[in-house]
Amino acid sequence: MTTDIETVEEFRVRARNWLKATLLPAPPTIAPADTEEAWQHARRLQRVLHDGGFAGICFPTEYGGLGLTTDHQAAFTEESLPYEMPLLLNVPTLAICAASLLDLGTEEQKRTHLPAVLRGDEILVQFLSEPRGGSDLAGLTSRADRDGDRWILNGSKIWSSGAYAADYGLCLARTDWTVPKHQGLTLFLVPVHAEGVTVQRIKQVTGSTEFCQEFFDDVVLPADAVVGAVDGGWAAASRLLFHERAALGGTSPYTSGARPHLGGEADQLLRLAKATGQDGDSRVREDIGEARAMNIVRDQLIAHVTRAIATGTLPPAAGAIPRLFSAENAWLQTDTALRIAGPHGATHTPGDGADTETVGLDYLFRAAWSLAGGSTEMARNVISERVLGMPREAAADRDVPFDQVPHGR
Ligand SMILES: Cc1cc2nc3c(=O)[nH]c(=O)nc-3n(C[C@H](O)[C@H](O)[C@H](O)COP(=O)(O)OP(=O)(O)OC[C@H]3O[C@@H](n4cnc5c(N)ncnc54)[C@H](O)[C@@H]3O)c2cc1C
Repeated sequence: MTTDIETVEEFRVRARNWLKATLLPAPPTIAPADTEEAWQHARRLQRVLHDGGFAGICFPTEYGGLGLTTDHQAAFTEESLPYEMPLLLNVPTLAICAASLLDLGTEEQKRTHLPAVLRGDEILVQFLSEPRGGSDLAGLTSRADRDGDRWILNGSKIWSSGAYAADYGLCLARTDWTVPKHQGLTLFLVPVHAEGVTVQRIKQVTGSTEFCQEFFDDVVLPADAVVGAVDGGWAAASRLLFHERAALGGTSPYTSGARPHLGGEADQLLRLAKATGQDGDSRVREDIGEARAMNIVRDQLIAHVTRAIATGTLPPAAGAIPRLFSAENAWLQTDTALRIAGPHGATHTPGDGADTETVGLDYLFRAAWSLAGGSTEMARNVISERVLGMPREAAADRDVPFDQVPHGR
């Protein structure tokens, strides 16, 4: 039915005109995610996109999207870069949670939640990591026990970005303790503000309070809160993690607007060099050249791997390659920016035209880029085992019923 689809160029021109007439210019810095107001503003912007007919470009029409191609999405993203967009809703709501629901949800879940997300009415987050560690996700100990046709959820999740402002969390919990760890998990859609859920905010070294920890005390979930199959949570989580790697690696087809901010970009470095009188310094010029080259490589790598996964030349796990590269590159960009900014990175002067405040905060936050979405060490494991076919890492708990595995309880 491609004959009915607006061509990418027609779509691009229509989008360009609409964006110019409707949206304000992008603010110089991305709004911090730790105020209710920022999330409300993002919801309103998403509603504007929706009402203008530009929300959910790659989501199917039956769930409120436009049912268009990734090329339409890429064209809209390019056109939208100069404008203020609801970027807070990109990750995890659209790129990870809504994308996972699209793949795994029942018809009713998809018809209920996806249009609501695309209208800006629902924010979705991930409840995966636990205080005992996030890398060994299958070893989690939050539990959901059957009680007739409902479930009772107990346990705790942590590092949930933006949970305080969200409506639902995709929560992985253990539903069978008598089988090996990957086989006894189930994914649930948990209302964040249900009775028995306590959300506490965590203050980071940057001062941000976006991260949350949740405590679940006898939270009652209906049978239709299950996403995917009961005890099939590992397959569901693997799909979710695939979308997470795509989001972090910049290959998700479900978001509009700028990619997540991953440290300084070359023009910021240039501004910094000029503002600190170092633009003639050959060492600084070399550093900026290297940072620029790395960004070009990152963009090419993302494009290459996206194509290769789409055509089946590489397996979906190859999303770990741009994810790893993006994290390494984010470190390089933030370190370069701090080296150029020197003491200004710590003693910034507001409005100095060189974003020195961002430089200092980016540096403090940089470890997050090698942890968020699964650590870079785990990305290396994925690449070696599932892309290159190397032997699997040894694990003492493989094939052992989980209730026989010592797990610190
Ligand atoms: C910005 C940001 C946003 C996040 N958002 C969310 C969210 O919304 N929801 C959510 O559930 N979680 C979220 N997380 C948590 C994230 O998923 C975890 O930080 C990550 O999975 C690592 O888990 P951990 O921090 O518990 O480290 P651990 O699992 O305790 O690991 C500690 C260190 O040991 C290394 N390590 C562990 N196992 C191995 C192994 N087998 N081989 C080699 N090295 C290993 C790790 O790489 C890491 O360096 C977020 C994290 C960040 C930084």
